[in-house]
Amino acid sequence: MVAKSTTPMMKQYRRIKAELPEGVILFFRLGDFYEMFFEDAKEAAPILEVALTKRQGVPMCGVPFHAIDGYLSKLIKAGCRVALCEQIEDPADAKGIVKREVARIVTPGTVLEETMLDADRHNYLAGIMQDGERFGLALIDLSTGEFSVEELLSSDRLRDALLRAGPSECLVPEDMTNGDGLRSVLGTCPGLYVTETEEWTFAYDAAQDYLVRHFDVHSLEGFGCENQTLVVGAAGAVLYHVKESLRRSVDHVTNLRLHQSTESLYLDETSVSNLDLVPSGARGGSVSLLKVLDATRTAMGSRKLREWLLRPLGARDPIVARHDAVDTLIEKTSLMTNLQDQLGEIRDLERLVVRLGSSGGNARDLVAIGTSLNQVPGVRTALDNADVQLLDHLAGRLHDLTGLAQRITDAFVDEPPATVREGGLIRDGYNADLDELRVAASEGRQWLAEYQAREQERTGIKNIKVRHNKVFGYYIEVSKGQLAQVPEEYTRKQTLVNAERFITPELKDYEERIFGAQDKAMALEYDLFVEVRDAALTERTRIQEIADALAELDVLASFADRARALRYVRPDMTEDDKLFIKNGRHPIVEEMPDAERFVPNDTELDGSQNQIMIITGPNMAGKSTYIRQVALIAIMAHMGCFVPAAEATVPIMDRVFTRVGASDDLSRGRSTFLVEMQETANILNNASERSLIVLDEIGRGTSTFDGISIAWAVAEYLHNEASVKAKTLFATHYHELTDLAVTLPGVQSYNVQVREKDDQIAFLRKIVRGGADKSYGIQVARLAGLPEAVVRRSKEILANLEEGEFGDAGQPKI
Ligand code: ADP
Ligand code: MG
Repeated sequence: MVAKSTTPMMKQYRRIKAELPEGVILFFRLGDFYEMFFEDAKEAAPILEVALTKRQGVPMCGVPFHAIDGYLSKLIKAGCRVALCEQIEDPADAKGIVKREVARIVTPGTVLEETMLDADRHNYLAGIMQDGERFGLALIDLSTGEFSVEELLSSDRLRDALLRAGPSECLVPEDMTNGDGLRSVLGTCPGLYVTETEEWTFAYDAAQDYLVRHFDVHSLEGFGCENQTLVVGAAGAVLYHVKESLRRSVDHVTNLRLHQSTESLYLDETSVSNLDLVPSGARGGSVSLLKVLDATRTAMGSRKLREWLLRPLGARDPIVARHDAVDTLIEKTSLMTNLQDQLGEIRDLERLVVRLGSSGGNARDLVAIGTSLNQVPGVRTALDNADVQLLDHLAGRLHDLTGLAQRITDAFVDEPPATVREGGLIRDGYNADLDELRVAASEGRQWLAEYQAREQERTGIKNIKVRHNKVFGYYIEVSKGQLAQVPEEYTRKQTLVNAERFITPELKDYEERIFGAQDKAMALEYDLFVEVRDAALTERTRIQEIADALAELDVLASFADRARALRYVRPDMTEDDKLFIKNGRHPIVEEMPDAERFVPNDTELDGSQNQIMIITGPNMAGKSTYIRQVALIAIMAHMGCFVPAAEATVPIMDRVFTRVGASDDLSRGRSTFLVEMQETANILNNASERSLIVLDEIGRGTSTFDGISIAWAVAEYLHNEASVKAKTLFATHYHELTDLAVTLPGVQSYNVQVREKDDQIAFLRKIVRGGADKSYGIQVARLAGLPEAVVRRSKEILANLEEGEFGDAGQPKI
């Protein structure tokens, strides 16, 4: 009956469905359910685990509207897009068929539902525009309103940026994925959901016009984007798509940030994963710098920390400003304790205020916003005597919205329900009319209790009960045995197995009074909710500013917290080219549970005598750990964080490169020697004298002599090529490479000390000057429990090889 394809309702369904983009599943509101039909039903039913039924030959399935979040979440996680089509008039008022309209389309990149979002990660929709080898990338997080753009000058950089941001959805112009570059980049981003859209939305004029109107500005100059066709195109298309195609509100998107590559220390994706900066899927997320550094108290803070970590600063002043702030927080203990305590009481303001503005916003969101805003003046007062520029600046953005907070507290009960139309949210005493209606309703209930007692008395039926259900309203129930005593004026409404139900005119009269009062009360409560909600939404921009300032404060406090707990020191940031670390430690390895006591090591690098460190030593000695710790310390310093060392001087850098020899990189499934060489080429072509390069066992992915020769030539190039001259840490178990130090003045050789006694070795983990004289591979093999016969035989073979294949200088004879 319902689904018969020629009914007016099915015609309406087909019309709405036809207006949707291809592949979007239509949730069609029918009373208390969202129904799906035809192919949509077939696709969704198994994902939702609901029954697929058929009516009049039409496949269909449905879900109750009040449980929509859970079902939506299942479909989105399965990579579907869902259009929610609502009834836009009261069915009671409808002439003929109820009017319906698509209220919003939900896609992986645009969810707002709390259950589908990670509290400590942004959820981005990316938009990409391509012009040859240049790309414009826009990232929007609809759940917070964050919106940024960036121009990327190669497909490698685009890939890095995508892997770093990890968008859940990516918008590209139609047919653009046919272009080689972009398709291969998108192909390497695991699980990225690609959406194509009309090409004209990316055109500069259209996009510029759309952005200018949205932000209500004369030009995009204020955002630094005027005339930048790629970034403007990407940003305009993304905003247009979200608002016009998905019909989502973007009122809370009030700023567009242009990221410029010169303002940050550039980390490519390989470095991010080699250095374990953030938890990555492959390693189960158990170890990462993010985890070590995260002592934030709010979700906003942990999202901000992640951003700072993946995009460290690239200029001295802002870095030093952060260090100053961290310093102050460490020094002023009570300020710090206050700050962290208060942050602990603050909820995810950023997402709350967005959700409040969406159709799902409720009184709980408002109460959470209110209690959070109440903490803000306390935070501000705590910062009063901080007397340091960055903290003062952030304090200036902590607006006092306690007036709004008070209004919320006055209006709502402490723990309001999730629904906003069923009453129970407004506090007694807030509104006189509401109080009166509530009294009327409760007097009605009181009367009912008395009525029941009276009727029991009057009729002599002891077990008469006055009850109520949704279908019949209030009724009198009399059990089968007592039916004979039922008085004439009772009207029978329903017969059950053991009882009958009756109504009386008196009862109906009171029912109307109660229901009338209750209905009016609920409607009034909803109006009052809307009033306070709208008052809160007019402060949205200031709440967003508060949220952002709190997030930064939270990260700075987290840095101070970690610095104190883990004995980090303030690095000295220098504009000249000396890097010096005394007693440096690896921040992650030293924090690993049941690790051995960490042995600290020094580092000295500069643009002349100490440009390249060659570090040799047997497997398991600690080479990889050491070279990574130097990179991590440099990156932490650029984030504004203190560092695990006794003392550190860090020059301002432009990039950090890390490459790991192929066989060390198996876990990432990219173990081909070709990839290793491509990455090495990338370094040689892109590094500058302000870069730091960490090379771990480069050349290992091929035969020994090949490997040594390539590693040798790479080191020479880094040393001799004036445009590169990058500070380099080169770990290798090819002890032959230490001879480079003899021939090249900027190369110093080091080794990780081991103690050898009676053919056994012990690892001392200490980096000392000079090369290792041998690889100790056989000793390590013995340590691992290889049979004695094999160990003995390997030694014989080694002796033969060393005689025959290396010249006097230890270089391979070719
Ligand atoms: P290599 O690269 O020389 O083969 P690694 O750097 O992988 O050696 O180190 C092997 C193990 O030794 C690491 O997993 C770590 O647990 C431990 N280790 C390395 N350096 C240190 C150190 N300085 N102090 C304590 N333990 C260390
Ligand atoms: Mg290693």
